[in-house]
Amino acid sequence: MHGFAYKNGSLFCENVDLQTLAETHGTPLYVYSANTILDHFRRLDQALAGIDHEVAYAVKANSNLSVLRLLAKENAGFDIVSGGELYRVIKAGGDPAHCTFAGVGKTRAEIEYALQQGIYSFNVESEAELRYIDQVAGDLGVVAPVAVRVNPNVDAKTHKYISTGKSENKFGVDFGFIEEVYDRASKELKNVKLRGLQMHIGSQLTSVDPFVEAVKKVAPLATSLKEKHGIEFWSIGGGIGIVYRESLESGAQDWWDKKADAERPLTIEEYGASIMPLIKDLGLNILLEPGRYIVGNAGVLLTHCLYEKKGTAKTFKIVDAGMNDLIRPALYEGHHEIVPLKEPNAERLKVDVVGPICESGDFFCQDRELPDFQPGETVALMSAGAYGFVMASNYNTRPLPAEILVDGSTATVVRKRQTLDDLLVGEL
Ligand SMILES: *Cc1c(COP(=O)(O)O)cnc(C)c1O
Repeated sequence: MHGFAYKNGSLFCENVDLQTLAETHGTPLYVYSANTILDHFRRLDQALAGIDHEVAYAVKANSNLSVLRLLAKENAGFDIVSGGELYRVIKAGGDPAHCTFAGVGKTRAEIEYALQQGIYSFNVESEAELRYIDQVAGDLGVVAPVAVRVNPNVDAKTHKYISTGKSENKFGVDFGFIEEVYDRASKELKNVKLRGLQMHIGSQLTSVDPFVEAVKKVAPLATSLKEKHGIEFWSIGGGIGIVYRESLESGAQDWWDKKADAERPLTIEEYGASIMPLIKDLGLNILLEPGRYIVGNAGVLLTHCLYEKKGTAKTFKIVDAGMNDLIRPALYEGHHEIVPLKEPNAERLKVDVVGPICESGDFFCQDRELPDFQPGETVALMSAGAYGFVMASNYNTRPLPAEILVDGSTATVVRKRQTLDDLLVGEL
């Protein structure tokens, strides 16, 4: 479900006409629906109601301060992967005591900063890192709360670039070694407190089965670590997938209701119902680290069609957004629905929608049947709220797009479009 739909022939975000936003603020333009973000957060929170739990939003999916502020007001936790993200969370009013710090390559400066701010836990990805955190905490005269990330070696059945829970991935400590790591740490490391256990098997999982498999496999380990080392939390990670292929249609409850059970994409209710029985009696605080699920379908990227080029083999629609604005198609063959802001008729044409960047990988679709749109018209790339703006770059010396947050009938610019002067800041 999300807040994007046609009303009287025009695409709206909540009660705001996207065409008006494009005309007022220019394109490319990211637009987010505040109430979609809140709805997703609350539903996930609700799915675990009745047990000790925390939904720790994965900041890297969309780290705009206003998005973080929305979630901080809901008392969300935050899963961060850098000192920069911790800085953002604090600026947005988030509580460091509800932050977990993930990532395979934390630096000394980042570890010190996180210790000074009093985060809830470092989610540690190797024994070497664990020993380093112990040393830094010792130097500062504090105790570092830690959890080790277990790599459960289950197949998340997602794109290879976003699969993280197999032994060949760089993430976490092998399932077979993990208890020894806790045992050695408890004997040898005096400046860490073994506070929890963490896992995260991958992103954009569209079936509940790999989650269930991983939770079943790791639950006995969590119990054993609780008995032996007194751990208090288990983070079962993020990775809940969203609808990309029928993104616009999936905004309506109707679309979900009409699907047969076997065809319905993973819902949060199904996720909760499948996972809850496996975790509810462990006596552990259960953390979730969703990123994409919270913000993915809550955002679109608006782009203006500049030209049409008809070749012998193909028709190209050339738009003013490029892979520097939204890299998912180029990076992981990500699919984004492309819909005109003016509600189209049923006619479809096979086209490539491409950006202005000097790379052949700079396309948003190839040979896709789309409703026709012409130069001068604006289209929306759907499901662009997660891993969209945060991965944007200045490649080809292009300013970063502006970001708008819509709440009901109010649209607020939550990040200004970069100017050409912004692009030169700090250069000689
Ligand atoms: C990226 C990441 C997440 C969030 O993944 P989503 O697929 O966006 O839910 C959660 N935990 C860790 C450790 C991550 O690296």
